[in-house]
Amino acid sequence: MDEKKIKIPYNKPFIVGQELYYIAQAVIEGQLAGDGPFTKRCHKWLEDNLGCRKALLTHSCTASLEMAAMLCGIQPEDEVIMPSFTFVSTANAFVLRGAVPVFVDIRPDTLNIDEKLIEQALSPKTRAIVPVHYAGVPCAMDEILEIARKNKLYVIEDAAQSLLSTYKDRFLGTIGHLGCLSFHETKNIISGEGGALLINDDMFCERGEVIREKGTNRSQFFRGEVDKYTWVDIGSSYLPSELVSAFLFAQMEQADKIIRTRNRIFQTYLYLLRPLESEGKLRLPFVGNESSNNGHIFYIIVSSLEQRDGLIKYLNSHGIKAIFHYVPLHSSPAGRKYGRASGEMKQTNSLSDRLVRLPLYYGMKDDEVYLVTEHISNFFKG
Ligand SMILES: *Cc1c(COP(=O)(O)O)cnc(C)c1O
Repeated sequence: MDEKKIKIPYNKPFIVGQELYYIAQAVIEGQLAGDGPFTKRCHKWLEDNLGCRKALLTHSCTASLEMAAMLCGIQPEDEVIMPSFTFVSTANAFVLRGAVPVFVDIRPDTLNIDEKLIEQALSPKTRAIVPVHYAGVPCAMDEILEIARKNKLYVIEDAAQSLLSTYKDRFLGTIGHLGCLSFHETKNIISGEGGALLINDDMFCERGEVIREKGTNRSQFFRGEVDKYTWVDIGSSYLPSELVSAFLFAQMEQADKIIRTRNRIFQTYLYLLRPLESEGKLRLPFVGNESSNNGHIFYIIVSSLEQRDGLIKYLNSHGIKAIFHYVPLHSSPAGRKYGRASGEMKQTNSLSDRLVRLPLYYGMKDDEVYLVTEHISNFFKG
């Protein structure tokens, strides 16, 4: 497909406010490495607005997941429960520590890990559960936390897609021991690449800083808590530059507006596609209550793999980029090598074959949403 002909991409990076001004300010202030004034502002924004114990910016959600695996002391041969219907980083972070991802099937309604199937996937080697809130829709956290408590497991939320979505009045990413956010350009608020680790348990606060700063006690040294700056633990370089934090902070200031705008586009799609759902042509996405929806992904579910591929091709030929989501990890080459599936992955296999993700970005016009839905209708008229 000639990408030049694409008129409606599935994502468009955007600027909403002071991004470039803040970058200039960071340059003028003269600190471009990490943990300067803009990074601190981002930490404070996350702590104040989400209510986590401590927030640490990272260069990606992938980095945050890797830090979480280290913080939980994941060792070779440990097992970690997660859905197969997720992005590769959810699993990779633990495989890098030698652990085995154990894939559990998803619920047909939310496409999130099926909490009723978790207990049968546990073994004496299980150390953690990693719920992924697909499309910003919350997993059944009460049930998951209860299983974790009974079995002494850590809960690490992959909240890459769920900034400012809630579960029972708590922000996603602040409910488990640790939460991982992404600010990749395809997410709701962006800095190109970017992420954050949300620490919700005091026991991880100090070591979180150390792991992020190459295994040194640099942060404590600068606060005057220790008199020598030295190597104290394993770690890596997980902090973003001030240039990235400056861009990100400008987006954080507009976060409510961004999410309101995305939600409006989401609602327009729902309204325009409702008739096709009534005719039984497709299934619309799960919609929770208002506050639990951050308008991150709008997907539809069609009736077969052939129909999905046909629809994606049809939309592409009309200049509209729609995509599928994801190749399930349990059936990927690395997933088969490093992980294992617990039980049949019926819903995962069936739904990932039939899901189409539609264009949705900040600044998308009603006309564009209308055009996408019109082409979908035409496709079904055949
Ligand atoms: C985007 C995403 C990630 C990875 O985020 P990066 O910031 O690109 O590393 C991880 N998990 C899920 C569920 C995601 O959607």
